[in-house]
Amino acid sequence: MSVHASKIRLLMELRRQGITDTKVLSALERIPREDFVSETFHDQAYENIALPIGYNQTLSQPYIVALMTEALKVSDRMKVLEVGTGSGYQALVLAKICRRLYTIERHKPLLDQAELRFKKFGQTNIVSKAGDGTKGWKEQAPFDRIMVTAAAADVPPDLADQLAIGGIMVAPIGEDTSGQWLIRVTRTETGFDVEELVEVRFVPLIPGLPE
Ligand code: SAH
Repeated sequence: MSVHASKIRLLMELRRQGITDTKVLSALERIPREDFVSETFHDQAYENIALPIGYNQTLSQPYIVALMTEALKVSDRMKVLEVGTGSGYQALVLAKICRRLYTIERHKPLLDQAELRFKKFGQTNIVSKAGDGTKGWKEQAPFDRIMVTAAAADVPPDLADQLAIGGIMVAPIGEDTSGQWLIRVTRTETGFDVEELVEVRFVPLIPGLPE
């Protein structure tokens, strides 16, 4: 099947799975997912599956990327933080629909590759750095939206602190690779509202930097 045909098939499948936000669907349509994985996986780029990106990490399946982005309710006036840049694919999806996207990755070589992709696609509203994303990005806080793309046992307190009042965070929460849930946290004047969305499987959010 041609890239075009497999992409159309994937978009139809996402619609069937309940993704309705046209900003999200059109971002997925415009970004060539094959450019975010090694050549070995090019022919699977438009399958609805997660793909390896090196360093034991994975690019999430398109359905999860779409669901998380839709659940975050992003607009073009918003400042958004992503934790776990990985390949840079989710970052690019977010950057297409927000005002400015900040993204943090603990593996410097993954970040370097992601930054080359941002440049290649001419996406100039992304600010990225290597570091421990559990600490957030204090100098740039507060954020209207925060997306965490690796799973922790609980929401890191620094990230909750850096969420604006009225802001939304989407994050996978759970101890290990079984029994994680995607949650949506909304910060109110007085505290945080938490909703459980779907059961998921993410790589762990690891505090600190690699040796
Ligand atoms: N959003 C990515 C998915 C990456 S998988 C994409 O679209 O490709 C999760 C990523 O989170 C991995 O690259 C992992 O290295 C990173 N990560 C894990 N713990 C982290 C931490 N404390 N700070 C920053 N990044 C972290």
